[in-house]
Amino acid sequence: MVLLALVPIVVVGVLVAWKVSAAPRQITVTVRSGAGEDQSRRVVQVASGSTVAEALADAVVSPVDGRLLSAGTGRVLDAHHRPATITVDGRKADRDTVLDGDSTVKVIDGSDATEATRTEEAEIAAPAPPDILRLVEERGAPGRSRRVVGVRSGEEVSNEVVVAPRAPATTTRKVVALTFDDGPSAAWTPYVLEILRSRGVKATFCMVGSAVEKAPDMAATVVAAGHQVCNHSQSHDLGLAEADQARVDAQVGGGRRTMLAAGLPAPNFYRPPGGNLSDLVIATARNQGERVLMWKVDTRDWSRSATLETVMTNLRQQVAPGAIILMHDAGGHDRFTSLAALAGLIDELRAQGYEFTFPVIDPASTP
Ligand SMILES: [Zn+2]
Repeated sequence: MVLLALVPIVVVGVLVAWKVSAAPRQITVTVRSGAGEDQSRRVVQVASGSTVAEALADAVVSPVDGRLLSAGTGRVLDAHHRPATITVDGRKADRDTVLDGDSTVKVIDGSDATEATRTEEAEIAAPAPPDILRLVEERGAPGRSRRVVGVRSGEEVSNEVVVAPRAPATTTRKVVALTFDDGPSAAWTPYVLEILRSRGVKATFCMVGSAVEKAPDMAATVVAAGHQVCNHSQSHDLGLAEADQARVDAQVGGGRRTMLAAGLPAPNFYRPPGGNLSDLVIATARNQGERVLMWKVDTRDWSRSATLETVMTNLRQQVAPGAIILMHDAGGHDRFTSLAALAGLIDELRAQGYEFTFPVIDPASTP
Protein backbone atom coordinates (compact mmCIF):
# COMPACT_ATOMS: atom_id res chain seq x y z
CA MET A 1 0.00 0.00 0.00
CA VAL A 2 2.78 2.39 0.93
CA LEU A 3 4.69 1.37 -2.19
CA LEU A 4 1.65 1.99 -4.35
CA ALA A 5 1.27 5.49 -2.82
CA LEU A 6 4.88 6.30 -3.80
CA VAL A 7 4.46 5.46 -7.50
CA PRO A 8 2.85 8.83 -8.54
CA ILE A 9 5.59 10.76 -6.70
CA VAL A 10 8.33 8.83 -8.51
CA VAL A 11 6.62 9.36 -11.86
CA VAL A 12 6.29 13.10 -11.24
CA GLY A 13 9.92 13.21 -10.11
CA VAL A 14 11.10 11.45 -13.26
CA LEU A 15 9.01 13.77 -15.42
CA VAL A 16 10.42 16.85 -13.65
CA ALA A 17 13.97 15.54 -14.02
CA TRP A 18 13.39 14.82 -17.74
CA LYS A 19 11.93 18.26 -18.29
CA VAL A 20 14.88 19.99 -16.60
CA SER A 21 17.47 18.03 -18.57
CA ALA A 22 15.57 18.49 -21.91
CA ALA A 23 15.02 22.25 -21.57
CA PRO A 24 17.99 23.84 -23.42
CA ARG A 25 19.85 26.48 -21.56
CA GLN A 26 19.74 29.88 -23.26
CA ILE A 27 23.02 31.62 -23.95
CA THR A 28 23.77 35.15 -25.06
CA VAL A 29 25.66 35.50 -28.28
CA THR A 30 27.04 38.85 -29.41
CA VAL A 31 27.50 38.97 -33.15
CA ARG A 32 29.87 41.56 -34.56
CA SER A 33 30.28 41.96 -38.27
CA GLY A 34 31.95 44.29 -40.70
CA ALA A 35 34.71 46.70 -39.95
CA GLY A 36 35.11 50.42 -39.30
CA GLU A 37 31.98 52.53 -39.66
CA ASP A 38 30.06 49.63 -41.12
CA GLN A 39 30.63 47.56 -38.05
CA SER A 40 27.44 46.27 -36.51
CA ARG A 41 26.70 44.51 -33.27
CA ARG A 42 23.73 42.34 -32.49
CA VAL A 43 22.90 40.35 -29.43
CA VAL A 44 20.80 37.22 -29.72
CA GLN A 45 19.68 34.52 -27.36
CA VAL A 46 20.10 31.01 -28.63
CA ALA A 47 19.99 27.62 -27.09
CA SER A 48 23.26 26.32 -25.81
CA GLY A 49 24.58 23.86 -28.37
CA SER A 50 23.48 25.95 -31.30
CA THR A 51 25.90 26.35 -34.18
CA VAL A 52 27.46 29.60 -35.29
CA ALA A 53 25.29 29.37 -38.42
CA GLU A 54 22.15 29.34 -36.27
CA ALA A 55 23.30 32.31 -34.21
CA LEU A 56 24.16 34.23 -37.38
CA ALA A 57 20.72 33.44 -38.83
CA ASP A 58 19.06 34.81 -35.72
CA ALA A 59 21.25 37.93 -35.94
CA VAL A 60 20.46 38.23 -39.65
CA VAL A 61 24.14 38.32 -40.50
CA SER A 62 25.35 36.61 -43.68
CA PRO A 63 29.10 36.25 -44.05
CA VAL A 64 30.15 37.25 -47.54
CA ASP A 65 33.14 35.62 -49.22
CA GLY A 66 35.52 37.76 -51.27
CA ARG A 67 35.37 37.06 -55.01
CA LEU A 68 38.12 36.78 -57.57
CA LEU A 69 37.28 39.05 -60.48
CA SER A 70 38.68 38.95 -63.99
CA ALA A 71 41.02 41.77 -64.91
CA GLY A 72 39.28 42.65 -68.18
CA THR A 73 35.51 42.58 -67.70
CA GLY A 74 35.35 42.12 -63.95
CA ARG A 75 33.38 38.90 -64.19
CA VAL A 76 33.45 36.55 -61.23
CA LEU A 77 36.04 33.81 -61.61
CA ASP A 78 35.71 32.43 -58.09
CA ALA A 79 32.89 33.39 -55.72
CA HIS A 80 34.76 32.08 -52.69
CA HIS A 81 38.29 33.28 -53.40
CA ARG A 82 38.78 34.83 -49.97
CA PRO A 83 36.24 33.24 -47.58
CA ALA A 84 34.77 35.34 -44.79
CA THR A 85 36.53 34.69 -41.50
CA ILE A 86 34.60 33.74 -38.38
CA THR A 87 35.97 33.77 -34.85
CA VAL A 88 34.32 32.77 -31.59
CA ASP A 89 35.79 34.61 -28.62
CA GLY A 90 38.85 35.33 -30.72
CA ARG A 91 39.42 31.76 -31.84
CA LYS A 92 39.13 30.67 -35.42
CA ALA A 93 35.78 29.06 -36.08
CA ASP A 94 33.40 28.25 -38.87
CA ARG A 95 29.70 27.99 -39.49
CA ASP A 96 29.49 24.56 -37.84
CA THR A 97 31.25 25.55 -34.62
CA VAL A 98 29.00 24.75 -31.62
CA LEU A 99 28.26 27.50 -29.09
CA ASP A 100 27.90 26.20 -25.53
CA GLY A 101 28.16 29.35 -23.52
CA ASP A 102 27.87 33.13 -23.76
CA SER A 103 30.18 34.14 -26.55
CA THR A 104 31.11 36.73 -29.11
CA VAL A 105 31.00 35.73 -32.74
CA LYS A 106 32.91 37.96 -35.07
CA VAL A 107 32.44 37.90 -38.83
CA ILE A 108 34.80 39.63 -41.26
CA ASP A 109 33.71 39.45 -44.87
CA GLY A 110 36.31 38.45 -47.46
CA SER A 111 37.38 41.24 -49.75
CA ASP A 112 37.23 41.01 -53.55
CA ALA A 113 40.43 40.60 -55.49
CA THR A 114 41.32 40.98 -59.14
CA GLU A 115 43.27 38.25 -60.88
CA ALA A 116 46.93 38.77 -61.67
CA THR A 117 47.92 39.88 -65.15
CA ARG A 118 50.88 39.21 -67.37
CA THR A 119 52.34 41.48 -69.99
CA GLU A 120 53.21 40.10 -73.40
CA GLU A 121 55.28 41.99 -75.94
CA ALA A 122 54.82 41.10 -79.58
CA GLU A 123 56.31 42.24 -82.83
CA ILE A 124 54.16 44.07 -85.35
CA ALA A 125 55.37 43.19 -88.82
CA ALA A 126 56.37 46.05 -91.07
CA PRO A 127 54.21 46.42 -94.17
CA ALA A 128 55.55 44.31 -97.03
CA PRO A 129 57.64 46.21 -99.54
CA PRO A 130 56.57 46.29 -103.19
CA ASP A 131 57.77 43.43 -105.41
CA ILE A 132 59.58 45.70 -107.82
CA LEU A 133 62.28 48.19 -106.91
CA ARG A 134 63.29 51.03 -109.22
CA LEU A 135 64.54 53.52 -106.69
CA VAL A 136 66.59 53.12 -103.55
CA GLU A 137 64.35 52.11 -100.71
CA GLU A 138 64.68 52.80 -97.03
CA ARG A 139 63.98 49.61 -95.20
CA GLY A 140 60.83 49.25 -93.13
CA ALA A 141 61.03 48.16 -89.54
CA PRO A 142 58.75 46.10 -87.33
CA GLY A 143 56.90 47.75 -84.49
CA ARG A 144 56.13 46.43 -81.05
CA SER A 145 52.91 45.97 -79.14
CA ARG A 146 52.34 45.40 -75.46
CA ARG A 147 49.36 43.32 -74.38
CA VAL A 148 48.15 42.82 -70.84
CA VAL A 149 46.25 39.59 -70.27
CA GLY A 150 44.44 38.17 -67.24
CA VAL A 151 46.46 35.15 -66.10
CA ARG A 152 43.44 33.06 -65.17
CA SER A 153 40.73 34.33 -67.52
CA GLY A 154 42.91 34.96 -70.56
CA GLU A 155 40.97 38.19 -71.05
CA GLU A 156 42.78 40.98 -72.84
CA VAL A 157 42.99 43.98 -70.53
CA SER A 158 44.84 46.27 -72.89
CA ASN A 159 46.75 46.13 -76.13
CA GLU A 160 48.80 49.10 -77.13
CA VAL A 161 51.28 49.87 -79.83
CA VAL A 162 54.55 50.73 -78.15
CA VAL A 163 56.49 51.27 -81.34
CA ALA A 164 54.63 51.75 -84.61
CA PRO A 165 55.93 49.70 -87.55
CA ARG A 166 57.64 51.65 -90.26
CA ALA A 167 56.72 51.03 -93.87
CA PRO A 168 59.46 50.71 -96.48
CA ALA A 169 59.70 53.94 -98.43
CA THR A 170 61.52 55.33 -101.43
CA THR A 171 64.41 57.36 -100.16
CA THR A 172 64.40 61.12 -100.45
CA ARG A 173 68.10 61.27 -99.80
CA LYS A 174 70.52 62.24 -102.52
CA VAL A 175 71.83 58.76 -103.11
CA VAL A 176 72.19 56.44 -106.08
CA ALA A 177 72.84 52.70 -106.37
CA LEU A 178 75.20 51.37 -109.01
CA THR A 179 74.36 47.95 -110.44
CA PHE A 180 76.51 45.87 -112.80
CA ASP A 181 74.92 43.12 -114.90
CA ASP A 182 75.97 39.99 -116.75
CA GLY A 183 79.15 39.16 -114.83
CA PRO A 184 81.25 37.98 -113.34
CA SER A 185 83.88 38.17 -116.04
CA ALA A 186 87.48 37.28 -115.41
CA ALA A 187 88.38 39.72 -118.19
CA TRP A 188 86.37 42.81 -117.21
CA THR A 189 85.14 42.60 -113.65
CA PRO A 190 88.61 43.18 -112.09
CA TYR A 191 88.78 46.63 -113.73
CA VAL A 192 85.32 47.55 -112.47
CA LEU A 193 86.31 46.42 -108.98
CA GLU A 194 89.50 48.48 -109.12
CA ILE A 195 87.67 51.67 -110.15
CA LEU A 196 85.06 51.15 -107.42
CA ARG A 197 87.80 50.43 -104.87
CA SER A 198 89.79 53.50 -105.84
CA ARG A 199 86.73 55.66 -105.26
CA GLY A 200 85.39 53.89 -102.22
CA VAL A 201 82.11 52.89 -103.87
CA LYS A 202 80.11 49.73 -103.14
CA ALA A 203 77.80 48.37 -105.82
CA THR A 204 75.44 45.51 -106.61
CA PHE A 205 76.53 42.83 -109.08
CA CYS A 206 73.72 41.05 -110.89
CA MET A 207 75.33 37.76 -111.79
CA VAL A 208 74.39 35.22 -114.44
CA GLY A 209 74.58 31.63 -113.23
CA SER A 210 76.55 30.39 -116.22
CA ALA A 211 79.07 33.22 -115.75
CA VAL A 212 79.46 32.28 -112.09
CA GLU A 213 80.18 28.71 -113.18
CA LYS A 214 82.90 29.98 -115.53
CA ALA A 215 84.48 32.41 -113.08
CA PRO A 216 83.61 31.33 -109.52
CA ASP A 217 86.76 32.92 -108.09
CA MET A 218 85.83 36.26 -109.65
CA ALA A 219 82.38 36.00 -108.11
CA ALA A 220 83.95 35.36 -104.73
CA THR A 221 86.30 38.32 -105.20
CA VAL A 222 83.32 40.62 -105.83
CA VAL A 223 81.77 39.52 -102.54
CA ALA A 224 85.07 39.76 -100.67
CA ALA A 225 85.36 43.38 -101.82
CA GLY A 226 82.12 44.19 -99.97
CA HIS A 227 79.73 44.35 -102.88
CA GLN A 228 76.27 42.82 -102.94
CA VAL A 229 75.09 40.13 -105.32
CA CYS A 230 71.85 39.82 -107.26
CA ASN A 231 70.46 36.94 -109.32
CA HIS A 232 70.40 37.69 -113.04
CA SER A 233 69.08 34.24 -114.12
CA GLN A 234 70.95 31.09 -115.04
CA SER A 235 71.76 31.81 -118.67
CA HIS A 236 70.33 35.23 -119.49
CA ASP A 237 67.17 33.95 -121.13
CA LEU A 238 65.51 37.01 -122.71
CA GLY A 239 62.22 35.21 -123.29
CA LEU A 240 61.04 34.74 -119.71
CA ALA A 241 58.08 37.14 -120.00
CA GLU A 242 56.28 34.47 -122.05
CA ALA A 243 57.92 31.42 -120.53
CA ASP A 244 56.14 28.64 -118.67
CA GLN A 245 56.79 27.64 -115.08
CA ALA A 246 59.47 25.07 -115.93
CA ARG A 247 61.49 27.53 -117.96
CA VAL A 248 61.08 30.27 -115.39
CA ASP A 249 62.15 27.86 -112.64
CA ALA A 250 65.20 26.82 -114.62
CA GLN A 251 66.27 30.43 -115.07
CA VAL A 252 65.11 32.28 -111.96
CA GLY A 253 65.58 29.30 -109.65
CA GLY A 254 68.62 28.05 -111.53
CA GLY A 255 70.52 31.33 -111.22
CA ARG A 256 70.00 31.35 -107.48
CA ARG A 257 70.95 27.70 -107.09
CA THR A 258 74.18 28.24 -109.03
CA MET A 259 75.09 31.24 -106.87
CA LEU A 260 74.44 29.33 -103.66
CA ALA A 261 76.35 26.30 -104.94
CA ALA A 262 79.32 28.60 -105.62
CA GLY A 263 79.25 29.70 -101.98
CA LEU A 264 77.93 33.20 -102.69
CA PRO A 265 75.55 34.93 -100.26
CA ALA A 266 71.87 34.32 -100.91
CA PRO A 267 70.76 37.10 -103.26
CA ASN A 268 67.93 39.37 -102.15
CA PHE A 269 67.19 40.58 -105.66
CA TYR A 270 66.38 39.21 -109.06
CA ARG A 271 67.20 41.29 -112.10
CA PRO A 272 65.26 40.17 -115.15
CA PRO A 273 67.35 39.80 -118.33
CA GLY A 274 66.21 42.52 -120.70
CA GLY A 275 63.87 43.76 -117.97
CA ASN A 276 61.41 41.11 -119.18
CA LEU A 277 58.85 40.29 -116.53
CA SER A 278 55.65 38.37 -116.03
CA ASP A 279 53.58 37.73 -112.94
CA LEU A 280 55.06 34.24 -112.94
CA VAL A 281 58.61 35.59 -112.97
CA ILE A 282 57.83 38.06 -110.18
CA ALA A 283 56.14 35.41 -108.04
CA THR A 284 58.89 32.86 -108.62
CA ALA A 285 61.52 35.37 -107.54
CA ARG A 286 59.47 36.42 -104.53
CA ASN A 287 58.94 32.81 -103.47
CA GLN A 288 62.68 32.29 -103.34
CA GLY A 289 63.24 35.49 -101.34
CA GLU A 290 64.17 37.84 -104.18
CA ARG A 291 62.59 41.13 -105.16
CA VAL A 292 62.73 42.35 -108.70
CA LEU A 293 65.46 44.94 -109.10
CA MET A 294 64.73 47.30 -111.98
CA TRP A 295 66.44 50.61 -112.63
CA LYS A 296 65.82 54.31 -113.05
CA VAL A 297 68.89 55.10 -115.14
CA ASP A 298 69.84 52.96 -118.14
CA THR A 299 73.26 54.16 -119.24
CA ARG A 300 73.02 51.89 -122.32
CA ASP A 301 76.69 51.17 -121.82
CA TRP A 302 76.04 47.76 -123.36
CA SER A 303 75.13 49.22 -126.77
CA ARG A 304 77.62 48.79 -129.61
CA SER A 305 77.19 52.46 -130.43
CA ALA A 306 77.74 53.58 -126.85
CA THR A 307 80.43 56.16 -126.24
CA LEU A 308 81.63 57.98 -123.19
CA GLU A 309 79.38 60.86 -124.21
CA THR A 310 76.20 58.80 -124.72
CA VAL A 311 76.67 57.11 -121.35
CA MET A 312 77.09 60.44 -119.57
CA THR A 313 74.20 62.01 -121.45
CA ASN A 314 71.90 59.15 -120.48
CA LEU A 315 73.03 59.48 -116.89
CA ARG A 316 72.48 63.25 -116.73
CA GLN A 317 69.03 63.02 -118.30
CA GLN A 318 67.75 60.29 -115.99
CA VAL A 319 69.50 60.61 -112.66
CA ALA A 320 67.47 61.64 -109.63
CA PRO A 321 67.67 61.03 -105.88
CA GLY A 322 67.36 57.31 -105.24
CA ALA A 323 68.15 56.31 -108.82
CA ILE A 324 69.26 52.74 -109.41
CA ILE A 325 71.78 52.90 -112.24
CA LEU A 326 72.20 50.06 -114.72
CA MET A 327 75.67 49.28 -116.08
CA HIS A 328 77.51 46.14 -117.17
CA ASP A 329 80.71 44.43 -116.12
CA ALA A 330 80.37 41.68 -118.73
CA GLY A 331 78.39 40.68 -121.78
CA GLY A 332 78.23 42.28 -125.20
CA HIS A 333 81.29 42.70 -127.40
CA ASP A 334 83.55 44.40 -124.89
CA ARG A 335 83.25 46.63 -121.84
CA PHE A 336 85.69 49.37 -122.81
CA THR A 337 82.98 52.02 -122.84
CA SER A 338 81.68 50.98 -119.45
CA LEU A 339 85.16 51.13 -117.98
CA ALA A 340 85.98 54.42 -119.65
CA ALA A 341 82.79 56.00 -118.34
CA LEU A 342 82.70 54.58 -114.82
CA ALA A 343 85.30 56.73 -113.06
CA GLY A 344 84.00 59.93 -114.61
CA LEU A 345 80.39 58.94 -113.84
CA ILE A 346 81.21 58.41 -110.18
CA ASP A 347 83.15 61.65 -109.97
CA GLU A 348 80.40 63.67 -111.64
CA LEU A 349 77.67 62.25 -109.36
CA ARG A 350 79.83 62.97 -106.31
CA ALA A 351 80.32 66.52 -107.56
CA GLN A 352 76.51 66.83 -107.75
CA GLY A 353 76.27 65.75 -104.12
CA TYR A 354 75.22 62.12 -104.63
CA GLU A 355 76.39 59.36 -102.40
CA PHE A 356 76.50 55.67 -103.36
CA THR A 357 74.43 53.03 -101.61
CA PHE A 358 72.87 49.62 -102.08
CA PRO A 359 69.29 49.38 -103.41
CA VAL A 360 67.85 48.95 -99.92
CA ILE A 361 69.31 50.96 -97.10
CA ASP A 362 68.70 51.37 -93.44
CA PRO A 363 67.12 54.77 -92.73
CA ALA A 364 69.66 55.44 -90.01
CA SER A 365 72.65 54.51 -92.16
CA THR A 366 75.16 56.91 -93.56
CA PRO A 367 75.93 55.97 -97.18
ZN1 LIG B 1 71.74 41.33 -118.50
